[in-house]
Amino acid sequence: MFTIDSYLLDTNILTTMLRDDNTEVEDVPEEQTKIIFQEQKRAIFCTGCHNLITYPEYKIAVNGKHEHVFFNPHGIVFEVGCFANASGCLPVGSSTLEFTWFEGYAWKIVICSSCFEHLGWQYLSEAGTVFFGLILAHIEEKDL
Ligand SMILES: [Zn+2]
Repeated sequence: MFTIDSYLLDTNILTTMLRDDNTEVEDVPEEQTKIIFQEQKRAIFCTGCHNLITYPEYKIAVNGKHEHVFFNPHGIVFEVGCFANASGCLPVGSSTLEFTWFEGYAWKIVICSSCFEHLGWQYLSEAGTVFFGLILAHIEEKDL
């Protein structure tokens, strides 16, 4: 998914920076500032140790939404975002369908491969579909 708001914001900042640093900014076509932004790659990191976890390109919608809010059986609330892939996570233990938040998907805890913080869950369907539900408070999107 691509957030239009942040794209517009970043483009504005970039344009302002070019104006401050370069008095001949009139010669820089607007198209060029957009190209600079597109080459600036963003990624999603562990908030605890800044390990690279995944990329914004892997954001997916499950049951119609990317972000979900759930309670676990202990009443703790989790805001999770769904991702098709998260190579910075390590699945631990065996999977179970018990108390699953996504019907038909068994879950397994995933931890950060660097600091071992609990980052969320890996979901696996009987048909072999896999996705990750990552705790939004434990990850952050930043420039690479
Ligand atoms: Zn970490």
